[in-house]
Amino acid sequence: MNDIRIENATLTYLGDAQPIFSDLNVQFEAGTWTALLGPSGCGKSTLLRYIAGLLTEKVTFTAKTVVPSLTQLSNNVAYMAQQDLLMPWLTVVDNVCLATRLNGQRVEANTKAKAMALLEQVGLDSKANVLPNELSGGQKQRVALARTLMQDKSIVLMDEPFSALDAVTRHKLQNLAARLLCDKTVLLITHDPQEALRLGEQILVMNGKPAQLNKIAPPQSAIPRDIDGEFAAIQQSILEHLGGRS
Ligand code: ADP
Ligand code: MG
Repeated sequence: MNDIRIENATLTYLGDAQPIFSDLNVQFEAGTWTALLGPSGCGKSTLLRYIAGLLTEKVTFTAKTVVPSLTQLSNNVAYMAQQDLLMPWLTVVDNVCLATRLNGQRVEANTKAKAMALLEQVGLDSKANVLPNELSGGQKQRVALARTLMQDKSIVLMDEPFSALDAVTRHKLQNLAARLLCDKTVLLITHDPQEALRLGEQILVMNGKPAQLNKIAPPQSAIPRDIDGEFAAIQQSILEHLGGRS
């Protein structure tokens, strides 16, 4: 998979006078993590869901350049949302195999074996045959992560995947996701500057209407980063870009 490059993109919801963003330029380097921050309602989910082909609402979209094409992008995206979106009536392992089922295919033994291997990687192989309501919030998100990996797509779109978790669980899942998704092009939407600093190899702050993107220089170290003194200064800069200066 190549880098994703979007130039001069403008998107307007049908019936709205003003675009959500206009003349937006952004690049996502293949095999790296981008953290996208921004105040609620600025258009983060709209941007990423549109390029992933997941936006069902009617919009007008124009751009000078979209590479790879929107069709290629949408064929290569796996999506992980804030809520785990597990099917309550399916066991954990069947939830991991959900994409196969949704494609109308039978879940064969080799598919199930792959799902079990992924559940082992997220530390939940012992829970394979229970229903989601027997799991904690963190465990559910680990199942969702296994399901995301099961799809084996080169682009992974994560919309606030850890935001509903307690701090310790969130920290562990950030580490796990960074390890398991290290070769993917990951687009992570987060409202948490610290999460952006732990995981972002590119950090973007979206703001305004129409929205603009500002780049924040991330720390130089490899992800997942430990929280250190350098974080404080960059975190302050992120908060200022988010409009926190009063
Ligand atoms: P974010 O993810 O940054 O919180 P969204 O992308 O969800 O923001 O929404 C961006 C803006 O688009 C918001 O102002 C929201 O009200 C508006 N919006 C979202 N969905 C629709 C829709 N179907 N029709 C019109 N406006 C929408
Ligand atoms: Mg959103």
